[in-house]
Amino acid sequence: MKALIKYEPGVGNVELREVAEPACGDNQVKIEVSFCGVCGTDLHVYEDTFRNFPPVILGHEFSGRVVQVGRLVRNIQPDDHATVLPATAVTCGSCSFCRMGYFMLCPDRRGMGHGVNGAFAKYAVVRSDQVYKIPAGLSLAEAALCEPFASAVQAVLQVTNVRLGDVALVSGPGPIGLLCLKILLAEGIKTIVTGTGEDAMRLEKAKMLGVDTVVNLTEQELATVVAEETKGAGVDVAFECAGAEASAANCLRALKPLGQYTQVGIFGRKIFLDFDQVFYKQLRVVGSVGYTTSTWDRLLKILEQKVVSLDDLITHRMPLERWQDAFKLCERKQAIKVLLSPS
Ligand SMILES: [Zn+2]
Ligand SMILES: [Zn+2]
Repeated sequence: MKALIKYEPGVGNVELREVAEPACGDNQVKIEVSFCGVCGTDLHVYEDTFRNFPPVILGHEFSGRVVQVGRLVRNIQPDDHATVLPATAVTCGSCSFCRMGYFMLCPDRRGMGHGVNGAFAKYAVVRSDQVYKIPAGLSLAEAALCEPFASAVQAVLQVTNVRLGDVALVSGPGPIGLLCLKILLAEGIKTIVTGTGEDAMRLEKAKMLGVDTVVNLTEQELATVVAEETKGAGVDVAFECAGAEASAANCLRALKPLGQYTQVGIFGRKIFLDFDQVFYKQLRVVGSVGYTTSTWDRLLKILEQKVVSLDDLITHRMPLERWQDAFKLCERKQAIKVLLSPS
């Protein structure tokens, strides 16, 4: 089968190659991939700024049709439509974090698409406990967004305490920022979304989703807008979703005393911040990395109840052969979610 492979360490070293089809073990499920989304992590693996273990097939945000199940598998059947929790491909299962359900923090963890083979390929084989049957009425395209949605669900609903009446700031209108925004809007939270001139198309999407206030930092002063929107008080919660130093500084500055700062984006390098603001404003700072299985149970209920939809964040669908165009669109912020189809 054709697969998008990082074939050796270093910058780049990614290409479509013919590889052997994976075999399905007793406790495994073989999925014919319908859609696999391009994620910032894929770009980082390409650039070698995210830990990876070549040779490895990229891609981890996917959905597809089950074509084979091992003889011990009970939770899913051939022909079922499925999506996959990709981050648990390898965990030790016995460290304190694994035992608490926080597998993201397991020192031995390897996720699909960088640690083990991912889903930019015709087929992917996964353990049966990683597979979720798609709720009725959810399309395979929308289901490919479950994985990034999980990161937003954990950040907004599980790690941060946001309540009706709060004013939230989402800094960085990329896919995860917009997914956080969707949840905040569904919860009825007044929200401000910020981005730079480069993010124009994504800020426009935020407006279409119904956000109260959009700030284009190339043209407007955030402090002025925050003062107007909060009667000078500052925002209650801030979600840093850009992984950018200036964005983190904006969040710290925009927060009111006793506010909450949630780190959702990855900087990928050391940054310089006025951290005394955490002290003087007695902020609560927390990180949100990935998700737990409880996040997936919750997000599937959210999608089943149709209180949040994901399909309007899909801006492009392309065959896997056009992966370079897809990566470029994401890199240049000209897309929100690009889905690649192997067949
Ligand atoms: Zn991702
Ligand atoms: Zn562990």
